[in-house]
Amino acid sequence: MKYTLNCPPPCKYTINVDAQNDDEAIRKILEKGKEHAKEAHPDMAPMTEDQMKEMVRANMKRAA
Ligand SMILES: [Zn+2]
Repeated sequence: MKYTLNCPPPCKYTINVDAQNDDEAIRKILEKGKEHAKEAHPDMAPMTEDQMKEMVRANMKRAA
């Protein structure tokens, strides 16, 4: 299954991953998201791993 997570505007960056289930998707999105955040959002407020996971879980979208 495909999962996507859109960065909040004005960023417009979209993270796409392939995963078997929600937990795997969250893990993969987190990995990619960290790289992106380092490059694009160096000033972003620091979040704990749990906060990031919750953020991803609440905002990611699953495509069939
Ligand atoms: Zn972004």
